Amino acid sequence: MTLTPRSSGWIELICGPMFSGKTEELIRRLIRAQIAKQNVAIFKPSIDNRYSEDYIVSHNNRKIKSVLIIKPSDILDHVAESDVIGIDEAQFFDHSIIEICREIANSGKRVVVAGLEKDYLANPFGPMPGLLVEAEYITKVLAICVQCGDPANFSQRISEENGLVLVGEADKYQARCRNCYTKN
Ligand code: ADP
Ligand code: ZN
Repeated sequence: MTLTPRSSGWIELICGPMFSGKTEELIRRLIRAQIAKQNVAIFKPSIDNRYSEDYIVSHNNRKIKSVLIIKPSDILDHVAESDVIGIDEAQFFDHSIIEICREIANSGKRVVVAGLEKDYLANPFGPMPGLLVEAEYITKVLAICVQCGDPANFSQRISEENGLVLVGEADKYQARCRNCYTKN
């Protein structure tokens, strides 16, 4: 029996707390794909319900052009010509992002997804557990605890505001290790 080689796609997941370098790593992989002359399409969730061009920007100010989308199925409208699909802030999408990533990978493309795996209460964030199960390759990155310098696996909310989705940066969150993190 001869086996016919078949080109298949796959899913790479980059996860970790805030400030751990998820976006930086996503951008690094996507830029390398562009250097290899592959067609790259990049998406992130729209917070104000509009389609538009935007940039994915890491905390160390590297950036790459991306498309803002409202719901995961919108990604399918943009990927026909792409070899590599990048998705940032995957935790903000609903669970259909898992099925969409599966569909794209099944069609032979490389999917690179980055997302926050834990919310500020240290619970699994949205579709991230499902993506962890679905992905072929998982890279977990850690930040540096701002209090003691140990590796940080938690995002501490330092603002008083409640609600799961509170978009903010160093003014609202800190990277903390297991010892320095407190549930608030
Ligand atoms: P993420 O997408 O995981 O939030 P980014 O890729 O946007 O992270 O940013 C990572 C960068 O953030 C680091 O390279 C570093 O320059 C900066 N940074 C700020 N605070 C921290 C911290 N506490 N630990 C590690 N990196 C930090
Ligand atoms: Zn610490």
